[in-house]
Amino acid sequence: MKKNIILDYEQAKDKLKKIEEKGIIKREPNLAVTEYGLPIEHFTTGEGKKDIVITGATHGSEIITTDFVIKLMESINPDDTVWKEVSQEFKIHFIPILNPEGYVISTSAVRKMIPREMPQEEAEKICKKYYMEYREDDVHPEEQKRYQEMFKSIDYTCIPDEYKELREAVKNIYEKYPDLPKGSLQIWSSNGNGIDIQANSEFNPKINEINEGKKVFMKAKRFSNIDISHPGPINCPFDKEKGFKYEIETAAISDLLDDLSKQGKLFLYLNYHSTGGLIFQRPAIPPESLQIPGEELTRNERVNFILSEAYSSRTYKAKGRDTDGKDKREKSRYRVMTGQELATSTNDIFRLKYPQDLLIELSGMGGNPIAPYGDINGNYTNLVESNLDATKFTFHVASALKNLCEKFSKRVQQFDKNADYETVTETEAMIFDEFSKKIMKLKPTKEAFETELEEGIINDDGEAR
Ligand SMILES: [Zn+2]
Repeated sequence: MKKNIILDYEQAKDKLKKIEEKGIIKREPNLAVTEYGLPIEHFTTGEGKKDIVITGATHGSEIITTDFVIKLMESINPDDTVWKEVSQEFKIHFIPILNPEGYVISTSAVRKMIPREMPQEEAEKICKKYYMEYREDDVHPEEQKRYQEMFKSIDYTCIPDEYKELREAVKNIYEKYPDLPKGSLQIWSSNGNGIDIQANSEFNPKINEINEGKKVFMKAKRFSNIDISHPGPINCPFDKEKGFKYEIETAAISDLLDDLSKQGKLFLYLNYHSTGGLIFQRPAIPPESLQIPGEELTRNERVNFILSEAYSSRTYKAKGRDTDGKDKREKSRYRVMTGQELATSTNDIFRLKYPQDLLIELSGMGGNPIAPYGDINGNYTNLVESNLDATKFTFHVASALKNLCEKFSKRVQQFDKNADYETVTETEAMIFDEFSKKIMKLKPTKEAFETELEEGIINDDGEAR
């Protein structure tokens, strides 16, 4: 019988070693080494002058993101026409596990429940059950969470001897904060210090509440029994006893983006997260202390939107025909989120400071770490296949779309400086649809559709026809 496909830390590292041995993707020096001694591995491919950065497992328990980034790395084929063009144009950076400590903690707990040898079918049933429990927890306000109940007998001792110091750190967190619920080890999104990289932003408004000595609980019902004002599995921005500081993982990704941006090479950041089947792309409202010119924000906002449309156009959560005979893929595209809130998270700030930045929530089935594996033929296969296609397609058309969008943006500026977001994005979506129809008819070479683009959709003034 086939063993289960879930990747623990060692297995993920082995896969990365095999990818490296094939020679298409090169290992770079580690981005950093974490507090408890784990490397943040960094790989690149391509010779282009524009850089794309891709990260998985910012949240340690979002193991589907590492799985996907590894599959993406494996799928790069230098003999494929499109990939050949993409790698001439871009240099792609892969950081499959930005938060290795969190990944080790979460997958060690998973391995207690689903050992490596467990057959796929059996593992899938457990993942499905976890998904159902998690969903129930989302609607019921009870203190006792069902998905935590499933893991309640698993504690820090599941972390192997190789990671003794990390295990000790996790043990200390649970001992120091006995209010942390049992059965919360598998959802460990944080690093070994119990700090969540995405929340570890100086603009996080919860910092003030925490400094005022308040307890802070998450709003989501499934996490409502977790106090995030102290270190723990999820969402804690800093350790109040030590004062705010940037964690090694946060600094590692910030430094990489900053460095590429200063060299004028940063083109796109794809930040993979786990659950929702959504794309977050809109720049958040900048905090007052962060000075960013308004035109820059508007330009980024527009380019981000059209790239998200491109990405989303290839994604689906379901396939086949529905009862009316309609293609389910069209109806189950990943939604491009257009709402806007105050910037609080690490990624919100990245999106304000740097050019294109999409945060993609991969799985339609929610419930970290294992729910995305609860339906392999449906959820898992659709997400892997469609996102592989979406990344390849997006990279291939990104530059052309960016140019198109910038021309369009200039034109909007001439017509109506205060054009509202909804009107602009609706028009952009229409432009993308036209673009997409046109390129479908063309052979997949960039020169071909760029010419077509210039002549077909946009005339010399940059006016949309
Ligand atoms: Zn996440």
